[in-house]
Amino acid sequence: MAVSSLTIPKPDDWHLHLRDGSLLKAVIPFTARHFARAIIMPNLTPPIVTSDQAKAYRERIRQALPEGMTFTPLMTAYLTDTTQPDDLKRGFEEGIFVAAKLYPAGSTTNAENGVTDVQAIAPLLETLQRIGMPLLIHGEIATPDVDFFDRETVFIDRVLIPLRRGFPELKIVLEHITTRHAVQYVASESQNSELAATITPHHLLLNRNALFKGGIRPHHFCLPVLKRETDRLSLIEAATSGAPMFFVGTDSAPHLRTTKESAQGAGGIFSAPTALSIYAEIFEKAGALEKLEAFLCLNGPLFYGLPLNAGSLTFEKEEPEALKPILTEENVEIIPFLPFMSESNSGLSWRVKEKEPL
Ligand SMILES: [Zn+2]
Repeated sequence: MAVSSLTIPKPDDWHLHLRDGSLLKAVIPFTARHFARAIIMPNLTPPIVTSDQAKAYRERIRQALPEGMTFTPLMTAYLTDTTQPDDLKRGFEEGIFVAAKLYPAGSTTNAENGVTDVQAIAPLLETLQRIGMPLLIHGEIATPDVDFFDRETVFIDRVLIPLRRGFPELKIVLEHITTRHAVQYVASESQNSELAATITPHHLLLNRNALFKGGIRPHHFCLPVLKRETDRLSLIEAATSGAPMFFVGTDSAPHLRTTKESAQGAGGIFSAPTALSIYAEIFEKAGALEKLEAFLCLNGPLFYGLPLNAGSLTFEKEEPEALKPILTEENVEIIPFLPFMSESNSGLSWRVKEKEPL
């Protein structure tokens, strides 16, 4: 008999962009509804570099939470060429920072201040390794000599493999992996619990054809960009395997509709409202619903050494319905993933049981 209801512990999101100001206010309820904790990305303008900045940002996130909602933001430090090892250490020890984030310069939205040469931040990596603070990596090389679709593969070969040789005990999350190459590399290092990878709902659901279906689709453009069908199938295999080194990270990254639908549309997919439904659909189609709990609730806390969440969350099968744009307080639209699949329905039948609609 087909399953029509599923209850799991409340999950976490191990990769999330909440932005700031009115955008933060507009999007945070969608994450706080479904997730107990989230790793908050630090790529604001200017980026969250110091522990004082992270503390202030964490406070703004807490202030933006609607009354009565509980949610724990886990803060990260944006590494730059000039980050101070002492401040990282202090932030980690004081419970402000949970991890550090490495953006190779120019790799994604607001990555202009990222690290230009990984070799040059060896003292920072040394500190992270010593104090057991995880390094979260946007694994792409964004130099003009590298083909856009090869950025991740080249990063793994040119940067990640040598980096791990130099710092074998450094805890690393290769974020939002998109390729078979990344899956194979992370899986091949499975004897080493220091390496893990997050996988987004959109990379499990779409291949790069979705960027061009009937015309250019700015709401399907994200970084790293969607890849081939063979890559997508590899990601599904990894996510649904239940293996501890693969876990959820939505990379939900809201932009205003006007910023996406533009001659130079921004990369980033706002998936917070639908991410859990998409994961459930994917796991069900793969015949692996029983592995959903490991992927969403167990593997992440295990890697980070954090306790499991107390509350629970229930999915129910329902008729798919249309997704509506979300509005900021200035009445500007944000389009949730999966947009415009059809006029009347999102195609998603697994839905999180909400106490009341947002
Ligand atoms: Zn991201």
